[in-house]
Amino acid sequence: MFDNGNTAAAAAAESSAVSTLKLRFEQVKSLLQKEFGETVYRSWILPIEATGLSNGALELSVPTRFIRDWVKSHYADRIRSIWRQHFGAASRIDIVVAAKKPAAPEGREPVQHTIAPYERPSVANENAAAVENLSSPLDPRYTFQNYITGPSNELACAAAKRVADGEGAPNPLFLQGGVGLGKTHLMHATAQAIRARQPNRKVVYLSAEKFMYQFVRALRTKETMSFKEHFRNVDVLMIDDVQFICGKESTQEEFFHTFNALIDQGKQIVVSADQSPAEMDGIGERLRSRLGMGLVATINPTTYELRLAILQSKCQLLNRALPQDVLEFLASKISASVRELEGALNRLLAHADLAGRIITVESATDLLQDLLRANDRRVTVEDIQRKVAEHYNIRLSDMHSPRRARPVARPRQVAMYLSKQLTEHSLPEIGRKFGGRDHTTIIHGVRKIEELCAADQALKDDIETLKRAICG
Ligand code: ADP
Ligand code: MG
Repeated sequence: MFDNGNTAAAAAAESSAVSTLKLRFEQVKSLLQKEFGETVYRSWILPIEATGLSNGALELSVPTRFIRDWVKSHYADRIRSIWRQHFGAASRIDIVVAAKKPAAPEGREPVQHTIAPYERPSVANENAAAVENLSSPLDPRYTFQNYITGPSNELACAAAKRVADGEGAPNPLFLQGGVGLGKTHLMHATAQAIRARQPNRKVVYLSAEKFMYQFVRALRTKETMSFKEHFRNVDVLMIDDVQFICGKESTQEEFFHTFNALIDQGKQIVVSADQSPAEMDGIGERLRSRLGMGLVATINPTTYELRLAILQSKCQLLNRALPQDVLEFLASKISASVRELEGALNRLLAHADLAGRIITVESATDLLQDLLRANDRRVTVEDIQRKVAEHYNIRLSDMHSPRRARPVARPRQVAMYLSKQLTEHSLPEIGRKFGGRDHTTIIHGVRKIEELCAADQALKDDIETLKRAICG
């Protein structure tokens, strides 16, 4: 016993280090789950395991290369910063692909990351009902009746209603619009109208992420054929937020074939994205042109009148009332997204309940400070970076990264330019917020955009749109 006491102690220490590591990483995972939601969690976070921590490098393992690439490009930065925040610096995140483990021995929990195939082996008895089960749940409040239209969204709404009616609808219908402007609402409304009026028409509504996840599963289990088969009974396929597939060539390729097959079979397709096909970076030309072949219906930023009408309608739906001047105040101050507008309204109503007092413009100003500030002139560099990254569909982390490829560098320069214009920060301060760049780099970026704007009307318009989105 004494002979190998040291080794035993060492082994015990090591195993306790490993379990501490695992425990800690479970905490990270649950934070990521809260932050990114259930779908992302199950698709990308759950399969990750922490396998080592040495010299500050955190080693993670995932079951496939695909998941590795995805986690690396989408979540690694976040993992690292959460780790840093809670457990000290991690100099690096290394993600390795673990060789497939043999089946778990009896009595032990199966390896968590083995993802069950999306369907049972008995493909034969699949039926239309099973297909509809592919669909994500629909929000019963998202109906056409509850969707208020104005000049900014009436085309999109009319096109969606066409799809719901099933006659002469554009195919594919591509709904394009910024965050919180009602894309998902319109898609749910379309799906629900079909289910209510034409129950025989099978509708599947999925986020692109979920669609892709199922697809990847099918790829891994070599069931792509039956995956496509699965959609055979679908009459209307709706995919929300397709920008999600940008930059994933192999998945896109399969997407493309699936789309083509479905359209060739006369199926209706509706997709949404925060950019038009033409603006989407990182999608293949063929997919781009196929996506744009039907109708690209843009949902533009709301007008004051539409925002006011939406607020009035929401009050009516909730059977509540707020003074007219408060509604007007909200409509004029909170303009970036309808989601935010709704949030503001709900907050005021909740407060009215609690305080048992009528809301005034003064109390609203007080209660909504944070939202108002975000919609105000006092813009932060972070706001700008977020909006610009969203607009150009690059990662927020690209604002800080050293990457100099044009698709990343140009948007970054736009963000520098807007930071100089819209905030009070000095050039060195701005430089620090862009991954510690020198102030001369910021000057260069600002000048570059000024030069380009002089010659490039499209860029100029882009920047105006961004400014409006940022300042509200
Ligand atoms: P997106 O998918 O474009 O990000 P959503 O469809 O999720 O936006 O809309 C955000 C919120 O705003 C939802 O609660 C939705 O009901 C509401 N909303 C957006 N546009 C309208 C509209 N025109 N009329 C009524 N509600 C709307
Ligand atoms: Mg949406």
